[in-house]
Amino acid sequence: MRLGYHRRRVAWFGAGLSQSKRFAAQERLPQAELARIRRQRLDRLLDHAREHSAFYRERFPPGPVALERIPVLEKAEMMERFDDLVTDPGLRRDRLLEWIDTRRRDEFFEDRYRVMTTSGSSGRKGLFVYDRAGWAAIGGQFLRGSAWMGLRPAIPRRRLAMLGGASLTHMSSQGAATLRVGVHKVLGLAATLPVDEQVAALNRFQPQFLNAYPSVVLRLAEEQEAGRLRLSLTAMSTSSELRTPDMTERIAAAFGVVPFDFYATTEGLFGYECERHDGIHLFDTASVVENVDEDGRPVPPGTPGTRVLVTNLHNLVQPIVRLAVSDVLTLHPEPCACGRSLVRAAAIEGRRDDALSLPARGGGTVTVLPAQFSVITRDRAVREFQVRQEPGGLRVLVVPCAGAGPDLEQRIGAAVGQAMDDLGADAPVLVERRDELARRGGKLQIVVARPPEG
Ligand SMILES: [Zn+2]
Repeated sequence: MRLGYHRRRVAWFGAGLSQSKRFAAQERLPQAELARIRRQRLDRLLDHAREHSAFYRERFPPGPVALERIPVLEKAEMMERFDDLVTDPGLRRDRLLEWIDTRRRDEFFEDRYRVMTTSGSSGRKGLFVYDRAGWAAIGGQFLRGSAWMGLRPAIPRRRLAMLGGASLTHMSSQGAATLRVGVHKVLGLAATLPVDEQVAALNRFQPQFLNAYPSVVLRLAEEQEAGRLRLSLTAMSTSSELRTPDMTERIAAAFGVVPFDFYATTEGLFGYECERHDGIHLFDTASVVENVDEDGRPVPPGTPGTRVLVTNLHNLVQPIVRLAVSDVLTLHPEPCACGRSLVRAAAIEGRRDDALSLPARGGGTVTVLPAQFSVITRDRAVREFQVRQEPGGLRVLVVPCAGAGPDLEQRIGAAVGQAMDDLGADAPVLVERRDELARRGGKLQIVVARPPEG
């Protein structure tokens, strides 16, 4: 049985590799040509959804339909109507959730599906199923983005270290399992492992390529600078957490390479920085990306949206049409100097749940995004931090670097206080020193909003 698993994994990897070549051929095409490819795929997706999904049959009539006329799909609704939404009647939500909870190792569901869940900061679980073609588009985006970073399959094989720690049901674990077919040498380490154990394992493995959350890389940068970690990297990548320009600078100074940032969603939308490091190119040939405001109206480039509506053009088994993803994107108004015509996000803020709504001086509220706390990462004595919204204001938890002076709390408090003041927010700031911060799935939540009352 395990033999079947390995063969399937190799075959699925091959499908991803072929898809990555198609994405490569598309990435510099003129906009009109990209729009044509997108429309063709969209028509195929909508036809398939209407024919095989009771849920989508209710949502749009037969014949050509403008995407903007189809109602926005909320994650809660997708979960409630999951059994009607999928196009294979053998896929039942409760059974899948039960199946995935009892896995002890990487496996395919009924030998033909990858199944994963998302937790979501709001605690609402999401369930996603991919068949081979749908997963090939995920692998294709990953492989294409990796090629931009200089990580291509090679002989001798490249040594790749990935610090994650997410559960088996998380997309990153299944992505790593897909990758572990012998193309690269892969070392997987838990981000939650004590730092001296991470350092020892990395020194032994000597990766050429490192991928981790920014806060984890920042901690390793300190070890590298102190001479305890001795890595000679050709490239590295970060994702999923806030990375401010100051953090990038500290990481680049320690390792001698500028980290590539990337964006990955379980819904199927991926994006990577190119060699210009000037925003993240989203694979908008694999998904339709709609950046919208609170009322679902399109937001022009240069303006932050409220959420992103994702339509996955390759997942026919669980059609995702205009699914609302709570990320705050600002699209770049100008084309990138690299010549790629894929849409570029100038900024991607953390999940919307991490944006704070603070009382404004003189009434009303002010929205504060995670990046606005970059005043904290600018301080070289800060290793990592977390901002927690509390009834009386903000509590900032700070883990200091070795040798941080006694005035750290006062300095951070003044800097954050000034930043909030500049934004017009009325929020007293309290700073506390900690030895470590709690992580979820290895990931550090930088900003924790207070749940709305009632
Ligand atoms: Zn570019």
